[in-house]
Amino acid sequence: MTTELKNQVRQQDASVLAQGYSPAIRAMEVVSILAFVGLETALVWRLWGNPHVGPWLVLSAVILGYLAADFVSGLVHWMGDTWGSTDMPVLGKAFIRPFREHHVDEKAITRHDFVETNGNNCLVSLPVALLALLVPHSSASWVFLSTFLGAMIFWVMATNQFHKWSHTDAPPAIIGFLQRVHLILPPDHHRVHHTSPYDKYYCITVGWMNKPLALIGFFSGMERLITWVTGALPRKDDIGTEAALELVQAQEQAEPSEALAESATPVSQA
Ligand SMILES: [Zn+2]
Ligand SMILES: [Zn+2]
Repeated sequence: MTTELKNQVRQQDASVLAQGYSPAIRAMEVVSILAFVGLETALVWRLWGNPHVGPWLVLSAVILGYLAADFVSGLVHWMGDTWGSTDMPVLGKAFIRPFREHHVDEKAITRHDFVETNGNNCLVSLPVALLALLVPHSSASWVFLSTFLGAMIFWVMATNQFHKWSHTDAPPAIIGFLQRVHLILPPDHHRVHHTSPYDKYYCITVGWMNKPLALIGFFSGMERLITWVTGALPRKDDIGTEAALELVQAQEQAEPSEALAESATPVSQA
């Protein structure tokens, strides 16, 4: 990406973005966390002692759930970064604001307490938690589906915590170890996303899905499709119309393999 383009990337006012966190949203987050913990506990209680539950079923459901959560984290993060604006009713303040705030003040997440860090993800996971609890647990396939969904949303819930630790200067020793062996999101890996204009490596649970998705040009392909269908310009609200337009043109010329090569050598944000 050109220096010229980097200079055009407009940064929103971090303090204005931070003020969007209202008491009503906080109350909604507290309720969401309580409901999430309640539903997941009920799911474990329902699965406990089920004859179809075994170590291999649980292990494969937990690993597949981790991959699925990583993908979902990328998809949701990409949507929050790329589309819509912070002025939109409900969605703007509750969902889009944190993504935009994170690009202009990436350390803000490390100052968020447990509720602000984890409330959002608990809220979006509630319908899935309910589904996992309510499907019949009468066969191995149903039990696998239920365990997979329960595990996936557990990892979805953990995502912002893992993401927060990737920005923490001195995380607890055990967390540093898990990052170094890449069992949770490593800071160096996540740094690639924080390089302006924030258009790659969206997966933030563990990041295992980032390279495969970059290889197939998943997010740039989705952007072209959405622009083609709706006419909307990706990242217009986040980095400004001028930079967003130029980025689209740059992406059209770049091959997916080029995008991957670029991501392999992260450059610190200017
Ligand atoms: Zn982002
Ligand atoms: Zn980040």
